[in-house]
Parts: sequence; structure tokens; C-alpha cells
Amino acid sequence: MGSYQLKYHAKKPEGIENKKAYLVGSGIATLAAAFFLIRDGHMDGKNITIFERKNVNGGALDGAGNLEDGYIIRGGREMEEHYECTWTYLVIFQH
Ligand SMILES: Cc1cc2nc3c(=O)[nH]c(=O)nc-3n(C[C@H](O)[C@H](O)[C@H](O)COP(=O)(O)OP(=O)(O)OC[C@H]3O[C@@H](n4cnc5c(N)ncnc54)[C@H](O)[C@@H]3O)c2cc1C
Repeated sequence: MGSYQLKYHAKKPEGIENKKAYLVGSGIATLAAAFFLIRDGHMDGKNITIFERKNVNGGALDGAGNLEDGYIIRGGREMEEHYECTWTYLVIFQH
């Protein structure tokens, strides 16, 4: 299982404090974009807005649960070892 965080240390872009991101849809693609904007782009999460037209977040990979009991993906998913980016941010989300 790879960890890109151990390999790459992205420098903070000049003026990132004054930039904002607007992402359409709350699927895994958007959440991944937000994750990398925060971690590698050094953007403050408060400057990221996600628009979702449904009343459930997560798109095709939606889940259910809460902070106390944990979360579960509603549909079955095959998560293979070579999904390096996915594993990287799933592991980081847990900490
Ligand atoms: C039953 C099933 C099983 C699957 N199994 C696997 C698996 O085992 N392994 C695997 O890797 N992948 C699997 N997939 C595929 C994987 O779940 C999807 O490829 C992935 O979740 C897609 O993510 P996404 O963010 O690109 O798009 P989506 O999850 O489709 O998210 C798009 C979001 O954008 C919102 N949206 C769209 N237009 C607008 C708009 N104009 N304004 C506001 N919001 C908007 C939608 O409501 C949605 O929430 C499976 C998919 C399904 C359905």
C-alpha cells in the first residue's frame, strides 16, 4: 500500500490564502479534489465549497452512519491494493 504523502511534499503555492474552489457534486471525485487541494495545495478547507443537488452526499459511493458508530458504504465495493490515492486519503481521514 503506497503513501504519496511520504514521497511528495508539495510547496505552498503563493497566494493560496486568497483563492477559493467551487466543486460541483459530492462524489468521491470531488471529495478527492478537495482532499488534495487541502493537503497538497495548502488551501484552507473553509475556502472550498461543494455543491450537491441531492440531499445525500457521496454520489455513487454514498455511505451512512455517524461519528460515534462509524460509517459504512451502502453498496458493496471492491477496494484493491493498487488504489493508492484512495487508500492514502481513507487512511488519513481515519486519523
Ligand atoms: C453499484 C455500484 C458498484 C460499484 N462498485 C465499485 C467497485 O467495486 N470499485 C470501484 O472502484 N468502483 C465501483 N463503482 C464505481 C464508483 O462508485 C464510481 O465510479 C464513483 O463513485 C464515481 O464517483 P464520481 O465522484 O466520479 O461521481 P458520482 O459518484 O456520480 O458523483 C457525482 C455527484 O455529483 C452530483 N451532481 C451531478 N450534477 C450536479 C449538478 N449539476 N449540481 C450539483 N450536484 C451535481 C450528483 O448528484 C452526485 O452526487 C461502483 C458503482 C456502483 C453504482
